Amino acid sequence: MKLQDEKNPEACLKMLLEGNERYTAGTPQAHDFQERIANTAGGQSPSAVILSCIDSRVPVEQVFDVSVGDVFSVRVAGNISGTKSLGSIEYAVGVSGVQLVIVLGHTRCGAATAAVEAVVAGENPSVVNECVHLPSIIDGFKPVATPESLSGYAGSEAGDKAAIVDEIAKQNVIHTCNTLISKSPVISRLLSEGTIQVIGAMYDVASGKVTLV
Ligand SMILES: [Zn+2]
Repeated sequence: MKLQDEKNPEACLKMLLEGNERYTAGTPQAHDFQERIANTAGGQSPSAVILSCIDSRVPVEQVFDVSVGDVFSVRVAGNISGTKSLGSIEYAVGVSGVQLVIVLGHTRCGAATAAVEAVVAGENPSVVNECVHLPSIIDGFKPVATPESLSGYAGSEAGDKAAIVDEIAKQNVIHTCNTLISKSPVISRLLSEGTIQVIGAMYDVASGKVTLV
């Protein structure tokens, strides 16, 4: 069964996690892209919207072993919420009728690492190589990457630092889920009516495994 043919959010989540099991087991489905292209040319009806990082190690459709027409994929560095990512998710649930929203963070996230390093250094994120919009990504981590949450970071070993960054990335996923709900009237309403689900998850770049948070 194609993901796009299932709309129940619990069933969709189960299908996505089963797809991730196939991905990590090295047994993905055979994807007939030509068939999918032909069947979706006239219109789309995806069953999930996934907000994830731009990281090249987190290719969303492959991670969940889904195909053309199955998911709306919103990608922004650090999988943080902003006006345009939130608008994209609102379109998915409020216009297209998607019932499953997933915020997918990942381990070893460069955006989370940069945010942690900036906070520990006590600096505002600086403009590097004329990347004048990049600090807005780092700023997105401010609610979770605080001097208090990172008090033990500077004196930690490298492995422990990586674990702290992964924990910040996980907290960012939870914060982003809450932000989607608090900032969007349509997401908030559909969630309270039991129509949609908003789920946080983390992707492990070392194993390929997705774990719900
Ligand atoms: Zn990332």
